[in-house]
Amino acid sequence: MVFKVPDYKSHLKPIWCPGCGNYGVLNAIRKALAELQVPPWDVATISGIGCSSRLPGYMNTYSFNTVHGRVIPIASGVKIARPDVTVLAVGGDGDGFAIGGNHFPHAARRNVDITYIVMDNNIYGLTKGQTSPTTDLDMRTISSPYGSIEAPVRPLALAFAGQASFIAQGYSSDIPHLTNLIAEGIKHPGFAFVLVKSPCITYGGKAQIDHMKSMVRYLGDEHDPTNRDHAFHVTEEAGAYPLGIIYKEIRPTYTERVRDLQMRASPPTDGIPLQVEDLLDNFLPE
Ligand code: SF4
Repeated sequence: MVFKVPDYKSHLKPIWCPGCGNYGVLNAIRKALAELQVPPWDVATISGIGCSSRLPGYMNTYSFNTVHGRVIPIASGVKIARPDVTVLAVGGDGDGFAIGGNHFPHAARRNVDITYIVMDNNIYGLTKGQTSPTTDLDMRTISSPYGSIEAPVRPLALAFAGQASFIAQGYSSDIPHLTNLIAEGIKHPGFAFVLVKSPCITYGGKAQIDHMKSMVRYLGDEHDPTNRDHAFHVTEEAGAYPLGIIYKEIRPTYTERVRDLQMRASPPTDGIPLQVEDLLDNFLPE
């Protein structure tokens, strides 16, 4: 059986505003899954709340539109319970870096094997255009009519601080490039963070699209994603959004470390490691 892009489409029609960057991201996710030939029933797409968090509803996979900011803990739980499933965590900058901001670096340092795709439009779109954690200084929004007075969070630097083992950035208007990044993130054994510059046409308007276009810069062949110092320097470069796989390292995933711990804590009998039921037996009355 060969899976095609429509096999990952649900019966729901997206209700995003025409021209919203989220359409490009949705297409890229479906294309990446088709490219990798992952059966739709082996995928869980999970989100928090926000415009972009509607995305799981448009996927013909196991899908869960959860509560605000809690995409990462729920996606982590799914992966730990079912390591065989491809887990996609999706959402926006407000959901990921404000309400759920605390979860991001911790899932990254644990190296939970999920792909976290953040559609970054620098604004809260669903609640009608307030400043978000990534809103640029001086940017005018309905909640900052004279310009934002807060310095924006830098998600890529935050991913480095959290020891994410895969860090990439894409642009919603370049679907082939983004498809490749998402496919590489899914293949990566560990926490893969894909930040997508994705304009909000309604509250960012043409000015935001023009700004993003002028800021994107593709990483060339000379970029070495295994060189941590260089990769971090790239994320800090002012006046540009570097596009591509910025950083990548292979280290044990959370599930692998748990299995290793399980073996060390209780050497297997006949090749079978200690099970949860064995532990619970210790608490049963004699
Ligand atoms: Fe997209 Fe903005 Fe419309 Fe939300 S409000 S659907 S982010 S264009």
